[in-house]
Amino acid sequence: MPRTLVTGASGFIAQQLILDLLEQGHSVRGTVRSAAKGEALKAALGAHSDRASEIDLVEADLESDAGWSEAVAGIDVIHHLASPFPMAAPKDPDELIRPARDGALRVLRAAKGADVDRVVLTSSGAAIAYGRRGELPGRFTEADWTDTTHTADCAPYMASKTLAERAAWDYVAGDGSGLQLTVINPVGVFGPIRSAQVKTSVDIIARLLGGRLPLLPNAGIQLVDVRDVSAAHIAAMNDPASVGERYIVADEFRTLKEVAAVLRSAYPDRKKIPARGMPDFLVRALALVSGDVATIASELHKRRILSSEKVRKLLGRDLIGADDSIRASAETLIEFGAV
Ligand code: NDP
Repeated sequence: MPRTLVTGASGFIAQQLILDLLEQGHSVRGTVRSAAKGEALKAALGAHSDRASEIDLVEADLESDAGWSEAVAGIDVIHHLASPFPMAAPKDPDELIRPARDGALRVLRAAKGADVDRVVLTSSGAAIAYGRRGELPGRFTEADWTDTTHTADCAPYMASKTLAERAAWDYVAGDGSGLQLTVINPVGVFGPIRSAQVKTSVDIIARLLGGRLPLLPNAGIQLVDVRDVSAAHIAAMNDPASVGERYIVADEFRTLKEVAAVLRSAYPDRKKIPARGMPDFLVRALALVSGDVATIASELHKRRILSSEKVRKLLGRDLIGADDSIRASAETLIEFGAV
């Protein structure tokens, strides 16, 4: 059984991946930014797995060399998930780019130094489908790359994921030759949360359930379930043919109106779930004062659809449906008292 390291162990996707690795009998080490986060993580995962107490935690930050050689020592496979994922874009894109890109390189260099030869890295659909000029293609594939120079269609987060992934591929093609890299590119990740601390993508479900988004902008997102992102990481780790490949993990696109409709039908008593649209002019006006709304405003009327054909072959099955993921997020957010 390969000994695995999961970076960014406290994160939404990492928590699911750790539980799945434990379930399949792997030993798991994780990196966290503080001992307190590590303790909270073990306690949270203890509710889902008898093996949670066996997780070995090491402190390491993407912005510092400290801890990384300790983190990778004796490891066979690294799942690199740590990367900053803020809800609103910072003024200086480097605040995201530096930790994402330099942090990925730190992890890869540590891997190379410790003779760990297998790395599965979570990039994103953000590294594929942004920075576009003109019409969007009907379907993006793994051959597409975000153009970070076209900043009108490439927010700092998209740039951070693109530049980090590019740096990783460049490293393994050069100084890091011999490292076997696979990249997973999920779209918006939903599905069950495993602890109350989780924010990121599922926060949109919490906002809709709690009435914090009273009107619905004409925008949407392609969704995928966290359980499928984790499954793709594990399938890639187990399949030597995945080395050198990117895998988009994506189910269907849903507008915010469609997401809210799924929630309204699952929770008819929650009267705060919005039904009415927000006029585009209002979205654009609010975008001037709210970073969160600015993120949505840049997606008005756009449908970025990424093909999941390749990952379906890797997994040998279909993906969990978008509406099931929405309902699973809602159910667990309510269970954890997050709404
Ligand atoms: P989370 O924010 O839940 O997890 C991110 C993890 O990265 C956290 O553990 C966080 O630690 C850690 N991290 C952030 N900055 C640093 C840093 N400077 N040093 C060390 N660790 C750091 O997000 P997700 O689980 O959703 O994301 C996991 C990965 O998946 C990321 O690479 C993200 O870009 C990618 N992704 C996510 C998608 C989504 O919709 N959720 C879609 C596509 C890709 P801490 O808890 O201390 O903040």
